Amino acid sequence: MTEIVMQNLGKDFGAFTALAEMDLTIGSGEFVALLGPSGCGKSTTMNMIAGMLDPSHGEIRFDGRNMNGVPMAKRGVGFVFQNYAIFTHMTVRDNLAYGLKSQGVGRAETNRRVGEIAELLQLTPMLDRKAAGLSVNILQRLAIGRSAVVEPAIFLLDEPLSNVDAAFRAVMRAELKSLQRQFKQTMVYVTHDQLEAMTMADRIAVMDHGKLLQVGTPLEVYNHPADTFVARFIGAPGMNLLKGRITGADTGLVADLGAAGHCPVRTGQGGDVLFGFRPEQVHPDANGPLQMIVTTVERIGARTILHLAAGDMTAKAVLDSETPVPDQGQPFRFALDADDVRLFDAETERAL
Ligand code: ATP
Repeated sequence: MTEIVMQNLGKDFGAFTALAEMDLTIGSGEFVALLGPSGCGKSTTMNMIAGMLDPSHGEIRFDGRNMNGVPMAKRGVGFVFQNYAIFTHMTVRDNLAYGLKSQGVGRAETNRRVGEIAELLQLTPMLDRKAAGLSVNILQRLAIGRSAVVEPAIFLLDEPLSNVDAAFRAVMRAELKSLQRQFKQTMVYVTHDQLEAMTMADRIAVMDHGKLLQVGTPLEVYNHPADTFVARFIGAPGMNLLKGRITGADTGLVADLGAAGHCPVRTGQGGDVLFGFRPEQVHPDANGPLQMIVTTVERIGARTILHLAAGDMTAKAVLDSETPVPDQGQPFRFALDADDVRLFDAETERAL
């Protein structure tokens, strides 16, 4: 196990800054997801950890040792990419054994470890098949196995599930988590899929435009987003944000949400805010203080998503499919628990 420290880490490509001043410590044996939209600098960060790219400034330390200038082969990292690199002319078994053989691990030990990883990743039935004929799903599983089998102290995965189908992705999320529990590696996982990050990571580092916006446990970033970008990006659908104004000091604080009504809030210093609440935290209530018009009713199995509008503001509510809902075009009245409301500065969009 190895602790990774990134200090003031940055990367410029000519005049373009792909990563600006990243400070992040990934604990020994921790599973951290780098999460953000395409182009935010996730892969650039990962490639610097791996040693494939030199930082423009700052440093990376593994267990206190400065890694700047240390080549990838000497870093003790395993790396799995989106596009698996498999020797297609070799069998699954030989692919899995490859790294161990190059390290000079003996035959008995190689067999034991190949058997163990094959079992964990459900590759045992196809151990003697040539990789060439296998499906994309299996090849990606094999790529993960081939890197994991040498038990690197640090395991880096860059969007390893983006080419596999949805059902298989769900299975792999659970398998990757158990793989990490078993080998207790320090794991860094790049993804743009918040669900992957939420379900697997111990902590999530949310990035946008080359900046680290927030680091926290999945629940911390879900419940207390540092800004409106994180609020929208985490959750499916993301957090609702309505334009509001905090008023009324003696009668208790109230957010004036224009056409949507007024809602009591716990904190706020007066002035313009963005009023945030999760679609899952909307309570239908005929006497509730808020009202919006239903624009679409989306039924997705166990849940119903109401698309709502009031003036120029839109929001979503996620309800149990058993809950009766108004028809499209009708008003929907609801309440929120004041503890669930999050306020953001209207100008800086940072959490208040
Ligand atoms: P994606 O998921 O699309 O790969 P990402 O968050 O991993 O996104 P990066 O690959 O780290 O993003 O790229 C960050 C930015 O740096 C992008 O705008 C990209 O175009 C730019 N970039 C990356 N590598 C280079 C390079 N070698 N030369 C110039 N610009 C680059």
